[in-house]
Amino acid sequence: MNIIIKNIFDQIKLNNNFVITTHANPDGDAIGSELALARYLSSIKKNVKILNCSPTPEYLKFMLNSEDEVFEFDPKLQADLIKKADVIFVLDLNHLNRTKSLENFIRESASVKICIDHHEYPEDFGKLGWIDTSSSSTGELIYKLIKTTNTKINYEFAVPIYVAIMTDTGSFKYERTTSELHRITAELLDAGVVPKIIHQEIYEQGSANRIQLLGRAFNSLVIDGDGKIAYMKITSQDLTETNTTEEDVEGFVNYTLSIKGVEVGIFFFELESGFKMSFRSATKVPVNKLAAEFNGGGHFFAAGARLETENMESTIPKIIETANEYLQQYLK
Ligand code: 5GP
Ligand code: MN
Repeated sequence: MNIIIKNIFDQIKLNNNFVITTHANPDGDAIGSELALARYLSSIKKNVKILNCSPTPEYLKFMLNSEDEVFEFDPKLQADLIKKADVIFVLDLNHLNRTKSLENFIRESASVKICIDHHEYPEDFGKLGWIDTSSSSTGELIYKLIKTTNTKINYEFAVPIYVAIMTDTGSFKYERTTSELHRITAELLDAGVVPKIIHQEIYEQGSANRIQLLGRAFNSLVIDGDGKIAYMKITSQDLTETNTTEEDVEGFVNYTLSIKGVEVGIFFFELESGFKMSFRSATKVPVNKLAAEFNGGGHFFAAGARLETENMESTIPKIIETANEYLQQYLK
C-alpha cells in the first residue's frame, strides 16, 4: 500500500468522528466523491457528516439516499461539529478558501485535515494530502481508496463514483481518460450502473428557462485574439429575467471551444458581489496559470477564478488582454 494511503487509513482506524467537505458550487465530482467516501466510512461504523458551503445542485440530488445525507453548512448549528471532528476530509480542492463559510472553522479546528484532490499547486494548510494530478477525478481516487480495503464496490458506491468520473472527464473524453479508467468504469457497470440513466439524470433534466439563459449567453458571444479567444457572459439581470440560478450555467463555457480555431474560451458570470469566470483551453495555453493571475486555479485545460469585489463589465477588458498575452506566449 502506498504510504499516503496507509497514513489515511491509520487516521480512519484511529478515529470515530469525521466531517467531509468540498468546494463552493459543487459539481458531480465533488458531491459524488463525498457520497462515496461517506458511505464507505458509515459502512465501517464511523460517524460522518457531509457539510458544504453551497447547497447540492438539483441535478445531482438523484444520488442522495435522503435529504440529510448532505448538509448546507450552518455555523449556528454545525460549527461545533467541525471543532470537535477528529478528521476533516477536504475533497476536490486544494485551496481552503474554496470552502468559503467553512474556511476559518476548518483552519481553527484541531482535527487532522486530509485533502484528497487532483488539482495542481496545492496550498499547504497543515494537511495530510493525497494529491494526484494525473487522476481523472477525485472520485477515481476515492475508488482507489475504498478498493485498497478489498471492499466490494456495490451500487451505493458505484453510482456516485461513476458520476464523479463521468462529469470530470466530459463523459469520458478528456485527456485523463485512460484505459485504466475504463477498467474502473467497467467495474462500476458490473455493480449495476446504467450509463444512459445517469446521463439522463445529469444532462437531460434541465428546465426550458435554462435553454433561454443559454440563448442569452450565445447572444453575448465575442470573438477576440484573431479568432483564438471566444467569450460569453451572463449578468444578474439575465438570471432574474429568465428565472434561473447560478447552477443553470454549468457547462456553458464548453460551447466556446466548439468554435473552429478557438484556443481559449472564457465564460463570465456575474455574482451578487463581483463575478466568477471559467476558462477552457483547446490545446496549448495553460489556463490554470491564466486563472492564477486572477487568484484562481484549476487544471491545464479547465480552470476558474472569482473576483468578488470587482465589477464584471469594467474588468473583462483587462482579462481579455491578459488572455491575449498568454496566446502570444504559448502559441508561438
Ligand atoms: P469550472 O469552470 O467548471 O467551474 O471549473 C473548472 C475547474 O477550475 C475546476 O475543476 C476547478 O479546478 C477550477 N476552479 C474553478 N473555479 C475556481 C476558483 O474560484 N478558484 C480555483 N482555485 N479554482 C477554480
Ligand atoms: Mn474534480
